Amino acid sequence: MARYTGPVCRLCRREGKKLYLKGERCYSPKCGIERRNFPPGLHGSSRQFRRKESDYALQLREKQRARRIYGVLERQFRRYFQEAENRPGLTGTNLLSILESRLDNVVFRMGMADSRAQARQLVEHGHFQLNGRNLDVPSALVRPGDEVSLTEHAKKTVYFRDRADFVQKHQPPQWLVLDAQRMTAKMLEQPFKPEDVSLEEQLIVEFYSRQGS
Ligand code: SF4
Repeated sequence: MARYTGPVCRLCRREGKKLYLKGERCYSPKCGIERRNFPPGLHGSSRQFRRKESDYALQLREKQRARRIYGVLERQFRRYFQEAENRPGLTGTNLLSILESRLDNVVFRMGMADSRAQARQLVEHGHFQLNGRNLDVPSALVRPGDEVSLTEHAKKTVYFRDRADFVQKHQPPQWLVLDAQRMTAKMLEQPFKPEDVSLEEQLIVEFYSRQGS
C-alpha cells in the first residue's frame, strides 16, 4: 500500500482529534480541526452527530490514530505489535516504546524538525548518523546507549545552522539526553509513553487480539 500523500489535516478531521502532524500550524487558529471540526467528505458536516460508536470502531480508530501520528503503514504497524507482544511487560506500553524508538521520531524529539513527517524526510535525505554511521532509514529502531548525530555535511547546511537556536531551547523527553552544542542525542533508556500523545494503547491491544494479531 502506498504512503498517504494527501492533505494531512483530513486525517485529524477523520479521527475527530488533533494528531499534530503539521508542526507550528497545529497550535495556531489555522489548524484544520479548529476551523472545520467535522469529518471530511461531501456529507461530513452532517455526520458530526453520529450515533455511539461500537467497541470495534473505537479500537479501530485508536489503532488508526496511532498509525497516523507516527506515520506507519499497516503491515509495519502489525509487525511492531507482534514485537511488542514478544517483549516482557505490557504489550500496549511496549508498542508505544517501539514507536517512540523509531529514528524519525527520535530526530523529531531532538527538536530537529517541526513534525515527524519532516523528520522522516530529513532522515531519508541522509542527514543523520547512528553511532557514527550514516543511516537514512526512518524506521530504524534506536536502542538505549545509541547516539544520533548530524553528518558533517548536514551541520554546514543553512537549515541546520538556523535550527540550532531552536534545538538549544528544546526540551527533550527524559529518556533522551540532548547535546545542543554538538547537535547530538543519546538514548538513555527505553522510551515510555509520551505525555503529548493521547493514545489509549489498551484499545489497540484489544483491536489486534480480536483479529488474532
Ligand atoms: Fe491536525 Fe495539525 Fe492540521 Fe490541526 S493543523 S488539523 S492538528 S495536522
